[in-house]
Amino acid sequence: MGDFIVLLGPPGAGKGTQAQRLAQSLGMAHISSGDLFREHLKAQTELGKLAQSYMNRGELVPDDVTIAMVRERVGRPDCARGAILDGFPRTPAQAAALDEMLAELSGRVVSVPLIQVPAEVLIERLGGRWTCRAQGHVYHAKYNPPRVPGVCDIDGSELYQREDDLPATVARRIQVYLEQTAPLVDYYRQKGLLVEIDGTQPIEEVSARLLEAVEKARKAQS
Ligand code: ADP
Ligand code: ADP
Repeated sequence: MGDFIVLLGPPGAGKGTQAQRLAQSLGMAHISSGDLFREHLKAQTELGKLAQSYMNRGELVPDDVTIAMVRERVGRPDCARGAILDGFPRTPAQAAALDEMLAELSGRVVSVPLIQVPAEVLIERLGGRWTCRAQGHVYHAKYNPPRVPGVCDIDGSELYQREDDLPATVARRIQVYLEQTAPLVDYYRQKGLLVEIDGTQPIEEVSARLLEAVEKARKAQS
């Protein structure tokens, strides 16, 4: 049975950074819905073109296509032992769909860490974020600089600044998070799965707290 971990938190909280580290520590797959959309965009698929119009405005891509895309991804063999979900679910309808798809796969959500960071910090983080073209690894000009400016430490590909990290779009994305995604906090709290994590600490500290929380939750449910 696969154990799935859902990372919740506003844009810029550190979900991608932490998902990648946690996936490595636990030997699990990392699924980022934003990265999946950006791959479609790069390949200019129909889904990519549709998603782009929403992403550029900081709006959510419609639930039906998002759910179908993630359903296909979690069904792949590398998720048989579970995965870290980063950026999905983002609406109550997506959370319900996740429960359904995991039931079909005999999987379960074991822990939902909420990475908490105040809005002013999010704006500074996204303003300094550099993302790798090949695999979406993220850096920060000040807090997590690459060894060589403009080049990904891990795969050597070029780093770029996402268009939706411009200040006007960031403000909209934070608002969308509060309106559409924040209700999931209660949904998972009621299920006893929510763990609050202070996301203002340095990256290594946040990773240590997260790993502790996830291991405790898995032990309690084994
Ligand atoms: P962030 O850095 O804010 O976590 P993501 O890379 O997760 O950004 O998402 C970028 C954009 O991709 C979102 O603003 C949205 O347009 C789209 N997107 C990603 N995941 C979802 C989702 N689960 N549902 C709808 N849209 C999504
Ligand atoms: P999200 O996926 O939630 O949008 P990211 O993981 O992409 O967030 O992080 C957003 C930006 O903040 C990136 O530039 C990243 O390097 C930086 N960052 C992530 N975690 C921390 C942290 N704990 N302290 C300082 N900067 C961080």
